[in-house]
Amino acid sequence: MFKMKAFFILGFVFIGVSLNAQITQPEASEVWEPQPRVVNSPMNGVPSDAIILFDGKNLDQWESRNDSSAAKWKVENGCMTVVKGTGDIQTKESFGSVQLHLEWRTPTVIEGEGQGRGNSGVFFQKRYEVQVLDNYNNKTYANGQAGSVYKQYIPLVNACRAPGEWQTYDIIFNAPVFNNDGIKVRSGYFTVIHNGVVIQNNVEILGTTEYIGFPKNMAHGEDKIMLQDHSNPVSYRNIWLRRL
Ligand code: MG
Repeated sequence: MFKMKAFFILGFVFIGVSLNAQITQPEASEVWEPQPRVVNSPMNGVPSDAIILFDGKNLDQWESRNDSSAAKWKVENGCMTVVKGTGDIQTKESFGSVQLHLEWRTPTVIEGEGQGRGNSGVFFQKRYEVQVLDNYNNKTYANGQAGSVYKQYIPLVNACRAPGEWQTYDIIFNAPVFNNDGIKVRSGYFTVIHNGVVIQNNVEILGTTEYIGFPKNMAHGEDKIMLQDHSNPVSYRNIWLRRL
C-alpha cells in the first residue's frame, strides 16, 4: 500500500515537473490559427470592410421609419439634413453588434433651448438612442445631453463643438442577447467616442431608451439603425459601420 502511494506521488511529481518544463517554452502558449483577417484603414478614411450607409450622394441605404417609403430628408453638399415633419429614417438593412462612424452638425442658426436645440439621435436596433443635441452653451438634463445613452448614462465629459461645426461619433454597440423564451440573458453595451474623446466607456444598456418611463427589455433580434427627426435641421455625413 505504502509502495503504491509512493509510486503515485512520484508519478505526479514527474508529470508536474515535465508540465512545468513544457510551459517554460514560449512556443507552448503561442496561438497561430486563426490569423486575423486583413482590413486596410487609411488615415481619416473608411476601413476596407465597412458597409457604407451614406457617402454624401443619395439615401439609397435609407427609408422612412413610418411606412418604409423612400427617405425624404434633403441631400445637398455631401450631407443629409432632417426635413422637419418627414419623420425618422432608418437603414434598409438590419444589424446586430456594430462599430459605427458618423458625422453630425447642428444648425448654425441657433433656435430653441434645452432639448429643443439641434436635437436628433442615433438609435441602434431602433431602440437604443445615443443622443444628438447642440449642448454647446446649452444646458439640459445631463442624462439627455449630447452623447448620453438617453436617460440612462450621462456622458463622462461634454465634448461638443459649436453649432455649425462638424462633429464625429465613433460608437461600439454590443447588442443585447435574448434566449428562446424571450428573456434577456446578456446585456448590450455602448462605448461612445465624441470628437476623439471617450464619453461612454462600455456602459451596460438597461433596456430601451424611453422618453417617458423606464427601460423595456422585450426580446428582439437584429434591427435597423434609425436617425431621428426631432424637428431640427440636423445634418449627417460619412456614415459607415462594421459588423462585429
Ligand atoms: Mg434625440
